[in-house]
Amino acid sequence: MNTDIPIENMCCEVGRTLLDALAQIDLNAKGIVFAVDEAGRFVGTLTDGDIRRAVLARCSLDTKVTELLDKGSDVFGQVLQSVKARAPRVNLQQSAVSASVGTSLEDLVAKTSDRIKIIPLLDEDGRVADFFERTTSFHAPIAAPELLGNELDYVTECIETNWISSQGRFISIFEKQFAEHCGTAHAIAVSNGTVALHLALVALGIGPDDEVIVPDLTFAASAAVVLHAGGKPVLVDVDRESWCLDPGCVEQAITPRTKAIMPVHLYGRPCDMERLQQIAEAHELIIVEDCAEALGAQVRGAQVGSFGRTACFSFFGNKIVTTGEGGMCVTSDPALYEKMLVLRDHGMSKTRRYWHECAGFNYRMTNLQAAIGVAQMECLDSILTYRDHIAEMYHEGLADTDLVLPHPGSGMREVVWLVSGMLEESVDKDQLMSRAKEKGVDIRPFFYPLSDMPPYEGCCPRPTPVSHELSGRGISLPTSIAFSDDDYARIIDTVRECL
Ligand SMILES: *Cc1c(COP(=O)(O)O)cnc(C)c1O
Repeated sequence: MNTDIPIENMCCEVGRTLLDALAQIDLNAKGIVFAVDEAGRFVGTLTDGDIRRAVLARCSLDTKVTELLDKGSDVFGQVLQSVKARAPRVNLQQSAVSASVGTSLEDLVAKTSDRIKIIPLLDEDGRVADFFERTTSFHAPIAAPELLGNELDYVTECIETNWISSQGRFISIFEKQFAEHCGTAHAIAVSNGTVALHLALVALGIGPDDEVIVPDLTFAASAAVVLHAGGKPVLVDVDRESWCLDPGCVEQAITPRTKAIMPVHLYGRPCDMERLQQIAEAHELIIVEDCAEALGAQVRGAQVGSFGRTACFSFFGNKIVTTGEGGMCVTSDPALYEKMLVLRDHGMSKTRRYWHECAGFNYRMTNLQAAIGVAQMECLDSILTYRDHIAEMYHEGLADTDLVLPHPGSGMREVVWLVSGMLEESVDKDQLMSRAKEKGVDIRPFFYPLSDMPPYEGCCPRPTPVSHELSGRGISLPTSIAFSDDDYARIIDTVRECL
């Protein structure tokens, strides 16, 4: 793997001192040494930063390498007593990362990250035989969180003020900001997008014998929550152009037991809400929107999330706005709002502590998550603009290829979640994905049609040919503000080559 640096220069025996380790780092100019025992077996990794933090914490340069590795926690304890703010963080996880000689490039890339760029390659006896350095290879994951604004400041405030649990000012700020964004009266922050959907269904009274119409092509959580609420998901086909619920198929699937329709704005592409609303009104059905992938998308000037009786969002790490894990329900129905508040908090009466009106849940979000969410929402416009720019680069760069990237329907403002498109039938999708992966570019397949999977057997009254076709041909490309335009040029070149 590595050709320039003799492996001895990358290693330092654990019995030597931090000064010796620094001399090795100076020699190899990689900012890192592998600590080894007398037999050359890998023990742990030390970076120049680890040593600097130890020295700042009054650790002598004559200290043995082994002490810093083993007694990481002791050093940590001493420092907490003396200089609390400068606690050295010996990165235990980093210390442990290694791979064996002969590990595939793909696995090596997967073991590295922006923080762990160099890992030792060990022989059968655990001796350091070589090392792998990530800068020699490119890695574009499908998505990465983008913390660009006040996230750190707000989270720091939570820690400094001790408000780290589910009370605190950021929860209410986040909810208010979110409701304003959607144009709804209320928003209720919860611990993830799946429980947001579950909370909505339970609050709406969906239960045994109730049917909820769900698209066959969606992330499984949309349908799983119907089962968890005790109802039956009825899976119907999607529209070839929008990739979302086909209103004609929805109408066909309505029975006397149908209670609700769950439009999912898939990959940031809005559903035909006008037709779905007409159908819902005609049959007295409730609309619960799944907006997990489409924050900021609009239909005729109105935000997705403002159409249903209630709508749910996800703030998982790969979504448009993230709080790590997190979710939100929005609604303008005051009674439903009250019901969701009570159910989110153990079903406890709002006026009588420990009096439970119903069996509820703990679906609360923490102030820490909300702090990140508030900072993210402050940047939403820039996030969406930059995501549009990413999609434009892909559109231009892949225009004449066997990957067709769609344009939004009329009256729709679609948002870019994961830039997604359809491969021509002649393209072998699996081969494309593995070729791209070898070159460091993650390409994701579409979701499988839910009706093909065991939990949803018997939930699909009619064949769903469009869901099957889109699922077979659809792929998503790396989409993150964390990459530069140059990175995208490189990703596009790679995709072109692999096509
Ligand atoms: C991500 C997602 C969810 C679930 O959200 P989590 O926050 O991951 O629980 C639900 N539906 C769709 C369509 C999603 O993409």
